[in-house]
Amino acid sequence: MLGLMQEWPLLCHKLIDNAERQHGGREIVSRSIEGPIVRTTYADIHRRALQVAERLEQDGFRLGDRIATLAWNTARHIEAWYGIMGIGAIYHTLNPRLFPEQIAWIMNNAEDRAIFVDLTFVPLLEKIAGQVKSLRQVIVLTDQAHMPQTSLPNAVAYEEWLAEADGVFAWKTFDENTAAGMCYTSGTTGDPKGVLYSHRSNVLHAMIAAMPDAMGISARDVILPVVPMFHANAWGLGQSAPMIGAKLVMPGCKMDGASIYELLDTEKVTFSAAVPTVWMMLLQYIEETGRKLPYLNKVVIGGSSCPRAITKKFQDNYDVQVVHAWGMTEMSPLGTLCTMKPEHENLEGEARLDLQGKQGFPPFGVEMKVTDDDNNALPWDGKTFGHLKVRGPAVARGYYGGVGSEQFDAEGWFDTGDVAHIDASGYMQITDRAKDVIKSGGEWISTIDLENLAVGHPDVAEAAAIGVPHSKWGERPLLVVVRKPGKEPSKNDILAFMNGKVAKWWMPDDVAFVSEIPHTATGKIQKISLRQQFKEYRLPTD
Ligand code: ADP
Repeated sequence: MLGLMQEWPLLCHKLIDNAERQHGGREIVSRSIEGPIVRTTYADIHRRALQVAERLEQDGFRLGDRIATLAWNTARHIEAWYGIMGIGAIYHTLNPRLFPEQIAWIMNNAEDRAIFVDLTFVPLLEKIAGQVKSLRQVIVLTDQAHMPQTSLPNAVAYEEWLAEADGVFAWKTFDENTAAGMCYTSGTTGDPKGVLYSHRSNVLHAMIAAMPDAMGISARDVILPVVPMFHANAWGLGQSAPMIGAKLVMPGCKMDGASIYELLDTEKVTFSAAVPTVWMMLLQYIEETGRKLPYLNKVVIGGSSCPRAITKKFQDNYDVQVVHAWGMTEMSPLGTLCTMKPEHENLEGEARLDLQGKQGFPPFGVEMKVTDDDNNALPWDGKTFGHLKVRGPAVARGYYGGVGSEQFDAEGWFDTGDVAHIDASGYMQITDRAKDVIKSGGEWISTIDLENLAVGHPDVAEAAAIGVPHSKWGERPLLVVVRKPGKEPSKNDILAFMNGKVAKWWMPDDVAFVSEIPHTATGKIQKISLRQQFKEYRLPTD
């Protein structure tokens, strides 16, 4: 017997409809690409998204068309998203930090038919547009007055293009499993792989993300997503903020400490989310200038492991709660968040920081397990580490075009490629990427543990641990270190600092100092190129 409840497809435009109806006057404040701060509301965004949808339809775009965006976090980018989804087309966020050839490859793979592009990226797009055969139209996210001279074919200024629609338009309806958005993983090995979100998965993820023990956000929050919309949906904030009706503050193209601080302060931001490097820059800025963070309550930090020093400073010096989180593009992206279960609520000091160093537990809607190489589930004992696998309604069940099928099994588990352990309370801790783990004498050494420990040294700016060939052990750890400006810690200083804090056989065999560590387009340490750089390295122990 079926239940007698209504069918109400989970479609993304319902999020923006609700924002308009219940929170229409709430502001979306953007640092515009042209410069000034621009203030709009959910009612404005709703109206303009309808215009985008109408206008796209006038131009012949239809259900299933892939429409790219190459843009920073601004209100215009949000409108474009909802307008695209509103006709059943698919927003495809492009990461401008990738090499131009990679962006062209991705656009061709997705067969993008149109693109919304920020002024900043017009020169980048000019370089590659000719290679993208499917591309029919370019909409530059600005007005005629700021429109640059461009060689781009069929380029129009967004505001004038938009003004040709009156917004008297009804969203299209379709099945909730229809594709809504697309985002490629950065592809540190092999070609990038396309993740295809559905309306249903986006709406469910928005609900999952907002829950109290996930991001825990409400209409009373003022949310600043520093994490870009092209980095895994801005961790879902582009959907969950309109869903709950929170004020949004969009940082545009300025992510330095001073610019972010200015927005945090003038807009009284209560909640923000970004990768550790952004917070490192912000903390450095407020320390140097003696500022405070009186309004900020909570920051979600993820994308790579959050160093203990950041959590400690936020909490002890500025009374800002840190939520360490883990996720992936393939998971929409939230996987786990480190909020406190009641049994941990009273933890203090170092014990609390120990727990917060873990990536946390999954909200309802994400299942996880760790397995050995033969897919046997491993115990949740907080030390046995293995392959981390997940499943849920906002987790990918395949990649666009059917590539990478070996990562998905018949029971729906997706192999994340991460290595982790889970403790008896259900808290997961990432110890490595499977391809980065160091295998010494058949045992695994966690590079993330070594790195987190090393950056705890006051004179270390950044550290990366990699496996270097060793004749006896197969591989041994080499620690690559960037010193803080003006500081000269020696190899022995760093090793003495680490000594006793990890198993003896985990200790790096050597320390190499470099001026810079390479990063990927999503801000992670690029281990592949580091390993390449040090492939001839002879350890003193060998
Ligand atoms: P990419 O496109 O580079 O894969 P993602 O954002 O999808 O970008 O990256 C997901 C990966 O980032 C995870 O599989 C994991 O290795 C790493 N990661 C994310 N958050 C954390 C975290 N809090 N601690 C450690 N690693 C993390």
